[in-house]
Amino acid sequence: MIESRHADIAIIGAGPAGMAAAVRLAEAGVHPVLFDLNATPGGQIYRQLGNPQVGAGVMGEEYQHGRSLVEAFARADIDYRPLSRVWWIGREGAGYDLGVVQHRAQSWHAERLILASGAMERGWPFPGWQLPGVMTAGAAQILLKQGALLPGVSPVLAGSGPLLYLLAWQYLQAGQSPALVLDLAPTSRYHALLRHPRRAWHGRSYLLKGVRMIAALRRAGVPVLQGVDGIQAEGREAVERVRYRHRGHWKTLPAALLLTHFGVVPEPQLARSLAIPHRWETGQQAFLPERSEALAVEERLWVAGDGGGIGGAINAEREGRLAALEVLQSLAGKAQDGLARERAVLQRARRRDLEARRLLETLFRLPGDWLEVQPEDTLLCRCESVSRGEVERAITQGAAGPNQLKAFTRCGMGPCQGRQCGESVARLLAHRTAQPMDAIGYYHIRPPVHSVTLGALAAQQET
Ligand SMILES: Cc1cc2nc3c(=O)[nH]c(=O)nc-3n(C[C@H](O)[C@H](O)[C@H](O)COP(=O)(O)OP(=O)(O)OC[C@H]3O[C@@H](n4cnc5c(N)ncnc54)[C@H](O)[C@@H]3O)c2cc1C
Repeated sequence: MIESRHADIAIIGAGPAGMAAAVRLAEAGVHPVLFDLNATPGGQIYRQLGNPQVGAGVMGEEYQHGRSLVEAFARADIDYRPLSRVWWIGREGAGYDLGVVQHRAQSWHAERLILASGAMERGWPFPGWQLPGVMTAGAAQILLKQGALLPGVSPVLAGSGPLLYLLAWQYLQAGQSPALVLDLAPTSRYHALLRHPRRAWHGRSYLLKGVRMIAALRRAGVPVLQGVDGIQAEGREAVERVRYRHRGHWKTLPAALLLTHFGVVPEPQLARSLAIPHRWETGQQAFLPERSEALAVEERLWVAGDGGGIGGAINAEREGRLAALEVLQSLAGKAQDGLARERAVLQRARRRDLEARRLLETLFRLPGDWLEVQPEDTLLCRCESVSRGEVERAITQGAAGPNQLKAFTRCGMGPCQGRQCGESVARLLAHRTAQPMDAIGYYHIRPPVHSVTLGALAAQQET
């Protein structure tokens, strides 16, 4: 008979949020089990930290900041399970059942759960984004962090968000000069900050970092164009050219590699598969799970880090600690003075972090009509090759919501399980039916939320 393994506390994700939660729990003598997809702890930002192939100066200060947390995590008494993917999750009794594949399938039951599954890059369709040679800046950064891999050709970077500049700067430090950086954000956004001095002040550290990176790129002769739109990748079998509009003029540039970035959004699959209510947050331009100030979404479920809303790595670490304090309090069954003081300090710092993030949201706000101005044949769902035109026709034929659109067109049914097209489909529906994003909602997410082989399931470990 297949029985579930039991955990008092399970954490999903070994990024800053999950690691900080686990370390804080272990400090209090509570030993969680922690599942993470990757081979080493660190999550997105501290991925492969300390990789000797990558020079210490290449990745920047934020990356090095994670060292003490990764070391504390390595020392702590935690049942850490790397290379483990949680592919389904469900409520059972007062806790949660988890389907996990760590080489073979396992079933787990957790009394309490911290979801720290982080963020992903926003899927943002444009003509030619399906061509080989077009990839996201985040994916290129993973190759750099994990394998010290540089493109070998000068890439064009295009889109909106701090990661665009960070990667361009990291490439420069690693000796690979980008050909061009195309930023959707117009220069006027920076000038407009003068009208929001409070926001600029709170976000000054981000601002200074950005200015320093742009200055370094310009000094190295890398053109940085702001206020660009109409980005397209052109080519027959792979990208050969990048087309864009700048100051009203169309330009075309030969390119063998286009790296794009359109911001990050919470990884939706696990929270959505539990049908946790979400709301559209206009500042972040994303659906966020509804959490209390104490990061709780249910009595025994907490969402910490970027999975609950994009706050950056330092904030994720604070939220991980906060979630751990809430778990400790729930285990104790009553309020504890020491925990309350620690919680108050963390909450104050968290409010400051989130205030500072608003600067990035102002600067890198994406244009609301981006999808509507794309040509009809632009693919919305790359997995199932469904175009914007096909989705629009299905809406005209009466598909009333994302799930009906899925049934009409197959968009969202491919291997990415809707991660790349979910937001676009909701945006198009909202636009065409003149409804708010909250009224449109999102795909119903069902397991498997990650690919899992029949072999792994057949070899389910018996306990
Ligand atoms: C591609 C990318 C690159 C980024 N690079 C930078 C950067 O260079 N600098 C910077 O300041 N910020 C960067 N960010 C933002 C930064 O990653 C976050 O602010 C920070 O890492 C959030 O921490 P977290 O703990 O919430 O989530 P993450 O660090 O994202 O950690 C989440 C962890 O959960 C795991 N996970 C998710 N789903 C499952 C599952 N089903 N089963 C098991 N494990 C799962 C993931 O593998 C991951 O290890 C990046 C974000 C992305 C998406």
